[in-house]
Amino acid sequence: MYGIGAFSRALALHHRFKLGTRYFTAQAASSLKPLCDPSTYSAEEYANIDWNNLGFGHTPTDYMYVTKSTGDGSFEQGKLDRFGNLELSPAAGVLNYGQGLYEGMKAFRRENGGIFLFRPDQNAARMQIGAERLCMPSLTTEHFLDALRQTVLANKRWIPPPGKGSLYIRPMLIGSGPILGLAPAPQYTFLVYVSPVGNYFKEGTAPLNIYVEEEYHRAVHGGAGGVKSITNYAPVMKPITRGKARGFSDVLYLDSVHKRYVEEVSSCNIFIVKGNIISTPVAGATILPGITRKTIIDIARDSGYEVEERLVEVDELCEADEVFCTGTAVGVAPVGSITYKGKRIEYKLGEEHVSKKLGSTLVGIQKGVIEDKRGWVMEIGEQTSWSNSMKAR
Ligand SMILES: *Cc1c(COP(=O)(O)O)cnc(C)c1O
Repeated sequence: MYGIGAFSRALALHHRFKLGTRYFTAQAASSLKPLCDPSTYSAEEYANIDWNNLGFGHTPTDYMYVTKSTGDGSFEQGKLDRFGNLELSPAAGVLNYGQGLYEGMKAFRRENGGIFLFRPDQNAARMQIGAERLCMPSLTTEHFLDALRQTVLANKRWIPPPGKGSLYIRPMLIGSGPILGLAPAPQYTFLVYVSPVGNYFKEGTAPLNIYVEEEYHRAVHGGAGGVKSITNYAPVMKPITRGKARGFSDVLYLDSVHKRYVEEVSSCNIFIVKGNIISTPVAGATILPGITRKTIIDIARDSGYEVEERLVEVDELCEADEVFCTGTAVGVAPVGSITYKGKRIEYKLGEEHVSKKLGSTLVGIQKGVIEDKRGWVMEIGEQTSWSNSMKAR
């Protein structure tokens, strides 16, 4: 079934993480599970799909990573399975009580063929914090990173060519054991699946038109808005659907107590620019602490802007020079208009707007054309030649 010959040995040699200047040696070659049938991707470097028209839909790929908890709060070593359906008890904690977390990150291919992740250690840490909030055991950072590495490499032919998109990586931690009374599940499953993606919004990279939601709220103090709990997302489908039906790209939520402070958009954080000052609401309680948000704060400070994390009043949107959103899925997305209480505020985006500058720096670091001073980028796997595979197409 699986080849464990020279192919696997070669992979074992190459499978090291490079995170900043540190190397993680993943696992001994003997414990490295056979990755996949060599014929799956040695024969063809790229999957046969239309790389020029990727949106943000789910494309099934070859493999997924799965591991289960052992009962003492740790997880089995885990392995790659063919991508496919899971078998779950109808009494699984995740199905009945929403005990589940997800993460989202991207793998990029560079022009030289290298495959890179961006700050995946931050996703590992965020999942650990979320797991604590939802009474679930979690993976160590090393185990989490190893799962990513294995999944991305096994699905390498699904990583879009440079400039065409990225491989979205979706780790999940769910209460998979059966439980009837309201309590933490007796067993947990961690899995990782991937899908090639392009732009998140149908607008592509055009400015977003945002609607300020006054009826529904995303999160409350003391709730789970600050972690990527799956329970945060079904309740926003109604406002998003309503907003989209009215022609908006997405919805901006206000705080549930005063309906006065800006929180975030359904799956991305928000920033406002006024002169040299960039402001963003404080993350953690009701606002998801985005890794892109944190990264853009650092890039903005390095670029000479003053960044304030504070309460941001909805009225400030009227006076802002510029507004933009950040997230792994959306990147750094400029906002073209915000509609609040029936009034539409439009933002004029010149050639040199702030979000474009910050976004280009982020993409430049990811592509390797701007120096990665803080060790944000992590290379995985062996080198492949993009130029050769281009010729083959
Ligand atoms: C995932 C997510 C974000 C963005 O986080 P990143 O780590 O930057 O991808 C922002 N808001 C919400 C509600 C999210 O779920």
